[in-house]
Amino acid sequence: MPARLLCRGCGKVYDLEKDLVLSCISKGDNKDINHILEKIIDPVVSKSLLLASKELNPFIKYKDFFFSHALAQKLNVNFSEIVKKIDPGFSKTPLIRDENLFIKNETGNVGGSHKARHLMGTSIYLEVLGQKKTQLAIYSCGNAAIGASFVAKAAKKSLSVFVPPGLDEGVYQILRENNAQITTCPRVAGESGDPCYNRFQEKLESGALAFSCSGPDNWSNIEGGETLYFEILTELLQNNLELDAIVIQVGGGALASSGVQAFQEFYKARLISKMPRIYAVQTEGAHPLVRAVEKIKNRTELETVNQNMTKYMWPWETEPKSVAHGILDDMTYDWYKIVEGIFTTHGDAITVSEDELKAANKLAKEKYAIPVDHTGSSGLAGLLKLWESGEIAKDEKVAVLFTGVERHKPMA
Ligand SMILES: [Zn+2]
Repeated sequence: MPARLLCRGCGKVYDLEKDLVLSCISKGDNKDINHILEKIIDPVVSKSLLLASKELNPFIKYKDFFFSHALAQKLNVNFSEIVKKIDPGFSKTPLIRDENLFIKNETGNVGGSHKARHLMGTSIYLEVLGQKKTQLAIYSCGNAAIGASFVAKAAKKSLSVFVPPGLDEGVYQILRENNAQITTCPRVAGESGDPCYNRFQEKLESGALAFSCSGPDNWSNIEGGETLYFEILTELLQNNLELDAIVIQVGGGALASSGVQAFQEFYKARLISKMPRIYAVQTEGAHPLVRAVEKIKNRTELETVNQNMTKYMWPWETEPKSVAHGILDDMTYDWYKIVEGIFTTHGDAITVSEDELKAANKLAKEKYAIPVDHTGSSGLAGLLKLWESGEIAKDEKVAVLFTGVERHKPMA
């Protein structure tokens, strides 16, 4: 069957078509329905050719998994040429092995984090469509805005970024160098949810395109994010290995959602023989996903959560605080795919304390000499806890993601 997009909330299907589709047309009609578009694709991939491929650009190497690629074929445009034309400099990132632990190091990726991968998925989709609108918008607490600014600049698009007050001067500097229009969004008394997200929504209403790492606004960021996992899985396959588990930090949820989607597609294409168990990590300061997972009793209930969203997912009530400030989203916007992954693989969602976050970051820097920030090493904090409880055994193959580079000295 040709690739298509399926709304998990209302069931509407979007076929490969010339019209731009970033979100479900019914989004916003009912707060109880989770209008999240999911790519449905049947990738046909030769394992031997994939393992033999020397291609380093992940968007070209894994093109068979892209809705945008299927669309390019239908529209008769050259996908690889498009990727090369708007590429800000992507290449495969390192995977470090420490016995049974595999660490994907994204701190040297475009913009210093994994975020640019997500937005490259969107940039490619827009370019395949020959989209004429050039005004893009993103909300972010730093890394996503930076990643987006590199990708938007390479594609010659204008970018509005909505960020919280008090970011490090270095972040503003990079954004300015990439010609992003910056709006600082303080909390407003009586307003629910993240003010950056609310101002971003207002910008979309005025005609800008969602260039965000939030699936309900922009499904296409998810297929960009999948490349991170495709790289891990391919490198393991080259060594005849498969993962037993993966521990992923969760803020808005796009990173972990991309992971579940990527594992499912590799499994569907018979490239791996099993799904790894999915573990999600949030802070004690804000854990809307952990709260949702605790409310879902079993897999049967999972079938109706997208039609009863407010029972499971709502904005965190108090202003969240943590040294891992990159995963303090009020809402886990991309929550469904993660809970599906957790329930179908017998994983879990856990919280980590500030002390655990700090200890993991110290270990990451001292043992592996990687300049990762606290958000970036928070998956490792979760793994240390899961190892200690015996939930993940030491002889199991497990992966974590060091997602973002440290940009300044953190406060104690
Ligand atoms: Zn829908």
